[in-house]
Amino acid sequence: MFKYDASSSIADEFINDAEIRATLEYAEANKANRALIESIIEKARPVKKGNGCVCAGLTHREASVLLACDEPDLVEKMYAAAEEIKLAFYGNRIVIFAPLYLSNYCINGCLYCPYHLKNKTMPRKKLTQEEVKAEVIALQDMGHKRLAIEAGEDPKNNPIEYILDCIKTIYSVHHKNGDIRRVNVNIAATTVENYRKLKDAGIGTYILFQETYNKKRYEELHPTGPKHDYNYHTEAMDRAMQGGIDDVGLGVLFGLEGYKYEFAGLIMHAEHLEAVHGVGPHTISVPRVKKADDIDHDSFDNGISDETFTKIAACIRLAVPYTGMIVSTRESEAVRSKMLRVGVSQVSGGSRTSVGGYTQEARPHDTEQFDVSDQRTLDDVVRWLMESGHIPSFCTACYREGRTGDRFMSLCKSGQILNCCHPNALMTLTEYLVDYASPATKEVGFKMIADELNRIPKEKVRQIAAENIEAIKGSNRRDFRF
Ligand code: SAM
Repeated sequence: MFKYDASSSIADEFINDAEIRATLEYAEANKANRALIESIIEKARPVKKGNGCVCAGLTHREASVLLACDEPDLVEKMYAAAEEIKLAFYGNRIVIFAPLYLSNYCINGCLYCPYHLKNKTMPRKKLTQEEVKAEVIALQDMGHKRLAIEAGEDPKNNPIEYILDCIKTIYSVHHKNGDIRRVNVNIAATTVENYRKLKDAGIGTYILFQETYNKKRYEELHPTGPKHDYNYHTEAMDRAMQGGIDDVGLGVLFGLEGYKYEFAGLIMHAEHLEAVHGVGPHTISVPRVKKADDIDHDSFDNGISDETFTKIAACIRLAVPYTGMIVSTRESEAVRSKMLRVGVSQVSGGSRTSVGGYTQEARPHDTEQFDVSDQRTLDDVVRWLMESGHIPSFCTACYREGRTGDRFMSLCKSGQILNCCHPNALMTLTEYLVDYASPATKEVGFKMIADELNRIPKEKVRQIAAENIEAIKGSNRRDFRF
């Protein structure tokens, strides 16, 4: 019998089944305890400190009580507090990225994923370096600056050397005024040595979804292949950090197991990273299982409603206040709109989930990983964000200026976001508008930039940002940053 210990290096101890079950009982017993719930929401709200603010975050027990509560007025209070925290640390900026699928060769047997080894209907494809180049040009021509690369697990077809070659190729392509300035990596759990190689290749965040925190369910869902090993998978972020990667991204594939269990596990994982490495997850993703080729979607009976999904996002924001929260195009425009109001800070746009999908005119489905719900173009997504009061940001400055791990968290807390991230967002948005946007998007965007420049508190910063914006409009000079 394992005992709960957030600082342990053993998965069964830092994600402890008995502790999760006790947490769920505690949450159920207190789900209508208004005084307790109000005090937890109050604890999570930002408090002024110096020029900035700080947030206490919540323990997995406190956060689970909020998630269990379904009193409508209290849920509204949670949403308001989540938005308040998001605005305090990230302002109205929303970071934009796109996934790039490199290879769908995979030797695992994941029951929810169409890349599983036994799927004989899906053609297997792996991009050559020439094809990677072509995909990157297509992504740069859309306006993307930040990618998340994706690949199945296959040591023969997609060894770490292949992934490293692809990263090198991606960073080497400069088409017209285009650039990919940050490559995040979503590949299977690997060794400390390989994480060090990824770090040396200049990656941004290492992302690995836990899929499910329930060990028994995990083992059923991953019957074959290296991914079957729950502990190796769950301890991957510790190895990534040992390999020098400061920014790691967590995620659960919601729908595989009861959401309350997953949520408690996810918050415990964040607590573990904080306890051991002194820095929590850089991002948390909230994917939901989607229909896909050769997958029995109906066998996942833990599907969650849009309302519950929104509450999960709000509770993550309250519990892990400094994390970037990501919602992908697995979700529809309507759901993404709701999520933006409860703490989401990053979205993908114009995504294709097939290998080689960006270089094809029509959206290909043969190698697609899952159905994409939000099929709008990047230009539509950018305009939609601005029309709802958000600044689409193509900024990648933090990691390129060495503001990773706890240095990024200190920037968040310092109140300097408006003097740093805000002008960076406006300058990179200007690049997008000048180089790639449609006339309708340009019109909305330039007006927004003029208004938002006035919100930069420091006069000197405001002046430099305004000069750089004019330089971007009037020349090919790009990549200004604070
Ligand atoms: N192969 C890597 C691994 O095993 O972690 C990561 C790459 S995989 C392309 C990225 C993620 O897609 C998986 O971690 C999983 O959560 C998600 N995924 C797989 N099948 C899915 C489905 N049917 N619907 C939604 N997301 C899915």
